[in-house]
Amino acid sequence: MSFDVDLFVIGGGSGGVRAARVAAATGAKVALAEEFRMGGTCVIRGCVPKKLMVYASSYREIFHDASDYGWEVSAGGFDWHKFRNRLHGELDRLEGIYRSLLSNSDVTIHDARATLKDPHTVRLSTGGEITAKHILIATGGHPVKPDLENADLGITSNEIFLLEDLPKSILIIGGGYIACEFACILNGLGVEVTQFYRGAQILRGFDDEARGHIADHMVRNGVKLHVGTNLLEMRKQDDGIWVKGTDGSERIYGEVMFATGRDPNTSDLGLENTDVKIGRRGQIEVDKFSQTAQPSIYAIGDVTNRVNLTPVAIREGMAFVETVFNGTPTPVDHDLIPSAVFTQPEYGTIGLTEEEARDQEPVDIYCTSFKPMQRAFIGRDERVLMKLIVSQETDKVLGCHIVADHAGEMIQLAGVAIKMGATKAQFDQVCAVHPTMAEELVTMKTPMRSA
Ligand code: FAD
Repeated sequence: MSFDVDLFVIGGGSGGVRAARVAAATGAKVALAEEFRMGGTCVIRGCVPKKLMVYASSYREIFHDASDYGWEVSAGGFDWHKFRNRLHGELDRLEGIYRSLLSNSDVTIHDARATLKDPHTVRLSTGGEITAKHILIATGGHPVKPDLENADLGITSNEIFLLEDLPKSILIIGGGYIACEFACILNGLGVEVTQFYRGAQILRGFDDEARGHIADHMVRNGVKLHVGTNLLEMRKQDDGIWVKGTDGSERIYGEVMFATGRDPNTSDLGLENTDVKIGRRGQIEVDKFSQTAQPSIYAIGDVTNRVNLTPVAIREGMAFVETVFNGTPTPVDHDLIPSAVFTQPEYGTIGLTEEEARDQEPVDIYCTSFKPMQRAFIGRDERVLMKLIVSQETDKVLGCHIVADHAGEMIQLAGVAIKMGATKAQFDQVCAVHPTMAEELVTMKTPMRSA
């Protein structure tokens, strides 16, 4: 049977674009459909604009510290419109780069929504059908709002980058990394931030000690964090959005932002015309090679809800191409993935949390918390947290947690050693780089406790 293309990719985000390009480089005939903007969540409304907002918001502290270091500075106010224009200019530029990367790789682009007509046929919203030997679903996910009356008054992370004006105050609902990052960003930009999280502590799933450390610093920096609290009612008023919390509080906010989770984009995709199976959270079920129950259809990235991070979607895309177009079955390695939470302070993490590790085996915890030189000098009392979780049996470092400026950069490098299976003794063999914060990772001599 002959097909119009060897591969049809649905979704022009991190995973889809990489898979399409790499597959085309093997000589395959490839087409890709994107219904919104090329680059997907990461480039258009995720990692990239968020990190630029993190940078923008960090200048307030930098100006403050600079004057304590002897500089004469006058920060003035933050001009959201100026920043926003530059931000959108940058996103347009990046989208253009993604488009040209695809066309230079001879991938045919369809600016359309694609759905499945059958296991080998894609239907385009612009009209027309395309048959494909293989179909790759890389449709990502979308933010969800709670099922609550007037929830449409609230925005999500999708809209935050598009605000015409920054509100004077905002209520952020949620305790995950996106909620916490935006609480810190907006606080840094001068917005009065309140955060409600229904659980007992923010950043569920991360190391407890790191969670507590970040929460303390967020509160100290001005975020009004209410844990064990949820939103009960909300209503539009002339001067903003009136909100009642489960703690009995009533207040009017300029904006309410829901960061209450993301669901995979699997609705109305035509999956019922295939044997593709959907899991309980709406995710596409795949095996270790990202193949669905329908042999001609694979799925990668957030739509499979495995580890929802850009570099993971990219690796899944490349493993798919190795498996299907290069004839080398390549399972995706989801073990020991380093990641960062861009709160202020920043958190870099890899491997097991203390809680997970002690459930698995006896461990030693090497941990230190100290005032970094740069801040201590000007009398600031923020502390850095460095923590290694070490197997008592093998001496292997099972987890590393860093809460500090540039923790994301540090964990990327510590991650190389940990992924290679480094032991604590091998960490200690490495000479310290002095004076740095990261030198503590190789100088912690005695465990703080065993667990
Ligand atoms: P996406 O990038 O979401 O791309 C899917 C694309 O498919 C979209 O462009 C969509 O428009 C398109 N699409 C959907 N359905 C169809 C259809 N039927 N037809 C045609 N096109 C369709 N990850 C990190 O690693 N680091 C971070 O710091 C980070 N920060 C984030 C911050 C925020 C606010 C958010 C929301 C996410 C963040 N992420 C971060 C997660 C990261 O963005 C995702 O894991 C990544 O984008 C997933 O890539 P993907 O290819 O699976 O999907």
